[in-house]
Amino acid sequence: MADVRTITDAETAPEAPPSPTHVTIRREDYRPPDWLVPEIHLDFVLDTESTRVRARLSVERNGDHDRPLRLAGDALTPLSVLVDGADVPWRMEGPDLVIDVAGDRAAVETEVVIHPAANTRLMGLYASGGMLCTQCEAEGFRRITFFPDRPDVLSRYRVRMEADEARFPILLTNGNPVASGRLDGGRHWAEWEDPFPKPSYLFALVAGDLKPNRDSFTTMSGRKVDLAIWVREADLPKTDHAMESLKAAMAWDERVYGREYDLDLFNIVAVSDFNMGAMENKGLNIFNSAYVLADSNTATDVDFDNIARVVAHEYFHNWSGDRVTCRDWFQLSLKEGFTVFRDQSFSADMGSAAVKRIEDVRSLRMIQFPEDSGPLAHPVRPDSYMEISNFYTATIYNKGAELIRMLHTVLGAEKFRAGTDLYFERHDGEAATCDDFVKALEDASGVDLSAFKIWYSQAGTPVVEAHVDYDAGSGTATLELEQRVAPTPGQPDKKPMPIPLRTALIGEQSGAEIASEQLILLDEPRQTVRFDGVTEAPLLSINRGFSAPVIVRAQRSPHALERLAQSDTDPFARYEAMQELAMGLLTAGARGEEVDAEPLIRAAGNTLGSNALDPAFKAEAILLPQEAVIAERMEVVDPDAIHRAREQLRTAIGRGLSAELTRAQAATAPGTDHSPLAKGTRRLRSVALNFIAGGDAAAGAHLAKAQFDTADNMTDRQGALAVLVSLEGTEREDALKAFFERFSDDPLVVDKWFALQASAQRADTVEQVEKLARHPAFTMSNPNRLRSLAGNFSMNHWAFNDASGRGYRFLADMIIAADKLNPQIAARLVPPLGRWRRFEPVRSATMREQLERIVGTSDLSRDTYEQASKSLG
Ligand code: ZN
Repeated sequence: MADVRTITDAETAPEAPPSPTHVTIRREDYRPPDWLVPEIHLDFVLDTESTRVRARLSVERNGDHDRPLRLAGDALTPLSVLVDGADVPWRMEGPDLVIDVAGDRAAVETEVVIHPAANTRLMGLYASGGMLCTQCEAEGFRRITFFPDRPDVLSRYRVRMEADEARFPILLTNGNPVASGRLDGGRHWAEWEDPFPKPSYLFALVAGDLKPNRDSFTTMSGRKVDLAIWVREADLPKTDHAMESLKAAMAWDERVYGREYDLDLFNIVAVSDFNMGAMENKGLNIFNSAYVLADSNTATDVDFDNIARVVAHEYFHNWSGDRVTCRDWFQLSLKEGFTVFRDQSFSADMGSAAVKRIEDVRSLRMIQFPEDSGPLAHPVRPDSYMEISNFYTATIYNKGAELIRMLHTVLGAEKFRAGTDLYFERHDGEAATCDDFVKALEDASGVDLSAFKIWYSQAGTPVVEAHVDYDAGSGTATLELEQRVAPTPGQPDKKPMPIPLRTALIGEQSGAEIASEQLILLDEPRQTVRFDGVTEAPLLSINRGFSAPVIVRAQRSPHALERLAQSDTDPFARYEAMQELAMGLLTAGARGEEVDAEPLIRAAGNTLGSNALDPAFKAEAILLPQEAVIAERMEVVDPDAIHRAREQLRTAIGRGLSAELTRAQAATAPGTDHSPLAKGTRRLRSVALNFIAGGDAAAGAHLAKAQFDTADNMTDRQGALAVLVSLEGTEREDALKAFFERFSDDPLVVDKWFALQASAQRADTVEQVEKLARHPAFTMSNPNRLRSLAGNFSMNHWAFNDASGRGYRFLADMIIAADKLNPQIAARLVPPLGRWRRFEPVRSATMREQLERIVGTSDLSRDTYEQASKSLG
């Protein structure tokens, strides 16, 4: 791979060809494929060191042209190339194989040898814990065989696998098994067929010594589907929750979207080395083991919820992704935004919808908002990329889901469902676009959605200013709304966007809904909305349920927010009032102003004491905004001042509400009870513990150690340890040691041990993290382990932004080292360094220096180069 610095070489030597690593791919350049591949036969002779892959493609010229057949490869060398059984001339153009094919149809055969054990990128065919598995999305298939590796080429697959039977007793791929047998020398083989044409990114293969948790599901039309979750034998007892989640997801998609599963077999495999969460390969989903394995002793309630969410997400892709796929990678949100919206709705239906909405909005604000206001901002449907792996972002996934949610809000559930029915019917078996999706919704509903499409093309988070004037004499309230979107890279001038705002007025005195909820569509730069018959001073309840992914600046007094926190009839708006109340105090505190915490303490006390609210909601409502979210509100970010302000408020609440918090912390639920009430009780318990420790460190340490020692589940244990790691004293050291010793042979729990320490709110966290990187249990080659240390540390706002710059250097060292092994994972660690514009000059300069050091590293991957160079701006 070419040195990244050839980009500057090219400036002085214009005759040098551009480095293939820096080519920018543009959406406007899309052209249909020159050749189609209706069928492919693959033949694998599997082995960890060297695997032989023979491929037989039936190719068809697509349209009237005389361009050659170009098959994408990535680090492949052809051992033989045959066209219709004959040797023909061929050439390599960079990594690709190019063949001049005379007729309009041909059978093209290639043979390559690949090396799974040496594959540290975890793309293509690789080895993990003694097994072999694949990851092909987005462009991994070209690391297995030569192929037009783009999502608009759909093929029917027939796959033969052969391997040593003792080491690889289980052989799986997409579709259904059709034949199998034994060979001499302890070898065996199996042949499978997938009846559904699919793009190459959905191909999957697994070979290993795995055991199944088997079950079945009968679909709404009465077909029986065999389900299996494949894991190492020792992990079998931890697969029941994933299986229950799968069956619930299958039933939900039938009930809510009318979508039924289509093969006789549905397999899930758990692997411990995986770049992402999981992958929706047709009939053979491959999962990061973190999203499969759970029991109450080793997994937290959050882990349980994540497993249900990800199992459902990948299952839902069978329709939104597999049956209807994407035309090109610019349309990625077509499947991801929609599927995230589907999994969010599923989780909302399985538990508390209000709490789920709060959690989703929190993560949107924590991850997507900063992305949208920084150097890596891009539209939900991007216009260009260098490396598509860098675009599996919160914008594509989560803002994409918000976009679909707005369409759902505007159309209503019934018309939305008519639209998705039409979409699935119209595009079944096709590779579609975001425009196709909107068109189907429009055609089925009769509603013109053209104005909404700007949400696909315009990046940046809109800011909405809202202000209400009340005229008691005439009984009218006037709501003034104003919107703007700040410039983002490549988009200096922004247009107004259609923003659906669920809005109501709450009576200041009565606390009642005095103007019932209406959906206001703000689609002009400024708009005025009048409410008549308003009989008392109104409080503004706006963007209820977070109906639009925007920042609302409503000038509301602490008194108004306190009142709304107590009486707003929309639970999300109530949560929001608490958060706004806290945010006002935190930003004022960070600017060095005196603050009066009493209104917030009263509101939190009311929340805790309410009989009407469930404990999970209480926990969410009283949690203080994270430091990174507070930073988003500051002109110039001062991490120390933000930390100090937040600590002061935590202390004030811990002291002001010690009786209520102590009661909440004392409430327990049996570890194996995963009802919403039990989970909420545990959540509130640890949130309360954190405030108690803020009010009195010694008492907090004592209580935390007791919670840790007596816990019968991982949620209570981890919640206690999360408080202890930020404190001083022997309780901390003892608990960390006990935790590691007890769980040292469970990699997913060891990940927690690293993550907790990387998230610690301590002055010496940077040093601790540097030390942990030298711990024998630390390894960069496992993505979960790398993320648990480096990823969590980079999100620890105060510690990462240590004035010494040591945190920045640590992260850059990690990125440079990881890039040699796994560019995708290295590149995902870059964004926190791109926040440099927001900080005071010294930190800002240090962050830039580190980005420059990364960009200047020789043999840097395209992935990391793109993220680091764009972060420099
Ligand atoms: Zn997905």
